[in-house]
Amino acid sequence: MMSAPYDRLVRGTLVLPDRRLPGGWIAIAGGRIAAIGEGAAPAALATDDFGDRLVFPGFVDGQTHATSYRGLPGFEATSQSAIVGGVTTMVDMPYDNPDPLNTIERLESKIAAVEAKSYCDVALYGTVAPGQGTGAMAPLAKAGVCAFKISSIESHPVRFPRLPADETLAILEASVDTGLPVGLHNEDQEIVRASIAALKKAGRTTPEWHEPSRPLAAEMAATASFLELGKATGAHVHIVHISHPRGYDLVARYREEGVRATAEMCVHYLHFDDARDIGRLGARMKVSPPIRRGVIDALWDKLAEGRIDLVSSDHSSWPVDNKLVPSIFDAGAGIPGLETLVPSFYTDLAARVADPARILCEQVSERPAKLFGLWPRKGALAVGFDADIAVLEAGSFTFDASVTHDGLNWSPYDGETFAARVSSTYVRGHRVWDGSTVTGEAGLGRFVPRIA
Ligand SMILES: [Zn+2]
Repeated sequence: MMSAPYDRLVRGTLVLPDRRLPGGWIAIAGGRIAAIGEGAAPAALATDDFGDRLVFPGFVDGQTHATSYRGLPGFEATSQSAIVGGVTTMVDMPYDNPDPLNTIERLESKIAAVEAKSYCDVALYGTVAPGQGTGAMAPLAKAGVCAFKISSIESHPVRFPRLPADETLAILEASVDTGLPVGLHNEDQEIVRASIAALKKAGRTTPEWHEPSRPLAAEMAATASFLELGKATGAHVHIVHISHPRGYDLVARYREEGVRATAEMCVHYLHFDDARDIGRLGARMKVSPPIRRGVIDALWDKLAEGRIDLVSSDHSSWPVDNKLVPSIFDAGAGIPGLETLVPSFYTDLAARVADPARILCEQVSERPAKLFGLWPRKGALAVGFDADIAVLEAGSFTFDASVTHDGLNWSPYDGETFAARVSSTYVRGHRVWDGSTVTGEAGLGRFVPRIA
């Protein structure tokens, strides 16, 4: 027992790694969880009592693109959206505007932007540019990047380029010594480009042609090729989004062979169905790989089978003007998702599984924290961890995209009813969101290096 009182107590129904603790309390000191218990609590300078609401470890969004549109200043709005959504750590992708994070200098600039602008903590992916060679990978790993990301298809020549197979192989070989995962955006460039060209020639440029323009063969061929290079090198190969159940089965097959292979799900694949929603949402649901037709139930089966390693938002900071253009092939791919990740996933889980809180905690806090090397600092309500906390209020809440905090104010989820909302968020013991107001500050956020 400490002689001085704790900084703060947070009370509620705690979602712990191994059990649920109703009437529980978390005692915070120096930004960390100092003690956890139930019933009578020790003295503290402040107490926030959430009654029977569920109290989770802060959520870790394993895939965000905070700075792909606005550049490094993009952290300010995106991270506000994160904390309003209960996300206390963003794992941010390296495809920044105008230049990707592929050198120590750019890592330092991005860390400085996080620590000046961000409301939440941030872990960072690095990348390797085509023709760059692998020399920067070990220094980036030593400086704390949590993973590397590459793509088998060009989305932008500088910011989001394609890596050919020979360079991909070299990158995987070089990654082994670092111990870091290498994530792949998994689509075959030649198949997709030929398919889009044929559709354009036929005048088929309305939103319903996006899904067929990126055939499953393109996604599976890129996925399988990368898994095979993982087998050849012993690297940790991570597929950053898989839109179809077959992709999860492929990853599982390689894992059974001993390959270090993991599969990430983006939450929109578990929520939307191209067959049902494209007429209503059009380009507002354009992501790549596309949300496919009629596979949503089979994707939920993959969750039940244990084939999904984590669930993320893939939050992209595109203004809606970038989406609503005459041809679907000119519309930006990607959707905002930080404020809907937890409410929409919890809502869908509650309709499909027995213990939605456990799965939510596993898939959006524990597992991403472990995969990206942030454990045992992030990802659990446990003594010694950072006091990152998200409180969920159950009820019936209509999601209104016009009042979101990401500076974008549009969402494919606009107008939907969720069974929960985030009613409070804490970053390292600081209350940063009280359910109606952002009470945190820009610059509270810290870069979180991967724990070796
Ligand atoms: Zn992404």
